[in-house]
Amino acid sequence: MFEKILIANRGEIALRILRACREMGIKTVVVHSEADREAKYVKLADESVCIGPAPSAQSYLHIPALIAAAEVTEAEAIHPGYGFLSENADFAQRVEESGFVFIGPRPESIRLMGDKVSAKDAMKKAGVPCVPGSDGALTDDPQEILKMGQQVGYPVIIKAAGGGGGRGMRVVHHEEELLRAVEMTKSEAGAAFGNPMVYMEKFLQTPRHIEIQILADQHGNAIYLGERDCSMQRRHQKVIEEAPAPGITDAQRKRVGEACAEACRQIGYRGAGTFEFLFENGEFYFIEMNTRVQVEHPVTELITGIDIVQEQIRIAYGEKLRFAQKDVKLRGHAMECRINAEDPLKFIPSPGRITTYHAPGGPGIRVDSHVYQGYFVPPNYDSMIGKIITYGDTREQAMARMRIALSEMVVQGIHTNIPLHQQLLVDPGFVKGGTSIHHLEHRMPEIRVLLEKQS
Ligand code: ADP
Repeated sequence: MFEKILIANRGEIALRILRACREMGIKTVVVHSEADREAKYVKLADESVCIGPAPSAQSYLHIPALIAAAEVTEAEAIHPGYGFLSENADFAQRVEESGFVFIGPRPESIRLMGDKVSAKDAMKKAGVPCVPGSDGALTDDPQEILKMGQQVGYPVIIKAAGGGGGRGMRVVHHEEELLRAVEMTKSEAGAAFGNPMVYMEKFLQTPRHIEIQILADQHGNAIYLGERDCSMQRRHQKVIEEAPAPGITDAQRKRVGEACAEACRQIGYRGAGTFEFLFENGEFYFIEMNTRVQVEHPVTELITGIDIVQEQIRIAYGEKLRFAQKDVKLRGHAMECRINAEDPLKFIPSPGRITTYHAPGGPGIRVDSHVYQGYFVPPNYDSMIGKIITYGDTREQAMARMRIALSEMVVQGIHTNIPLHQQLLVDPGFVKGGTSIHHLEHRMPEIRVLLEKQS
């Protein structure tokens, strides 16, 4: 096994990776910006290296500083976590060219999946169900584009091949708007992503977001670890995730899961990855693949008993998968609430010092967080300060435990979205399960009134 791994990330995921390494007896190097110097997880690492000032561009995104840190500490492999450089094919390539192992897919796989047109093309070939639409990028010919709009049927969505983070998309309801929308999306995409290529999809009206977790080794083996439901979103940002997805049958899971595993074998994928789908009227439609560990990976860990981060490390080292598909058994139900340092009503970030902190505990409750009493939440990064993950034999039990956990958790000195989560955990639609991706936004006006009354 590796003797030493460098963790090229921060916050809760840096701590999560550090814990996996310690359990496996692997030494760790944590890199940090000047803003994260005092973080406790930095002190838990065997070694730490300051890689630059607070702004990400000069620290967590600064490739030469990261490679140099790996060189001076003689780390053998680099774990990118999520966000930052985790889906940057050039970074993965530089890591490998510098003689280190990148704990993630090959750069070619990241590149293939980073371009949504090529990703969709590859998925279609592998038999993964996709949203109906233009096969490949739209041409410049207005007549062709209009014809495509008629074929696909309105409403349609125009999406940038290089888009991400919910940007570079435009919904078109009527034919008269189509050509202008294509032009605008193209010019925006060119400016924002350096790639003006756009494509067309049928716009699904009330889909759920369901994703499949996979693991693939370097020896041609690939398995799926069931699905997660991440439909509880605000502005395309996930708020609550759960596994399994309410109402998904074993047959549906098997069909889509096997297609994903087959796609991994076809493209020679290695590592952990997630296939994201929109789910409507009993059908799955692929939208994109994330070629990294995800924030919501713990819910899958709790229902499968498989440590996804440790498996990433084993796969990167070249080991064969330790599980065949038949060994993957889903048991019980898990749920995750993302705790953000933000105003629960206005959703604006709330950085600052945490004056009081008390983490929940008890049966079936896991807290993945790097914060503590006295911790200063820096204003420079994502506002997520941790995750509460609960497990139960049933969905009802996982929800009951989440309500207990939320009521026990105390975070003072900054604002958090805990009050919002508490409302969602008693929201009739959520409690029933299986809501669409628009549910939270639809419920927000009423929830806002309830929250205002409270404060
Ligand atoms: P990004 O990489 O920017 O996250 P995605 O392709 O994953 O882009 O899409 C982000 C979100 O946009 C989806 O979660 C969904 O809410 C919406 N969306 C994307 N494609 C469609 C579609 N064909 N129909 C309806 N909604 C869509």
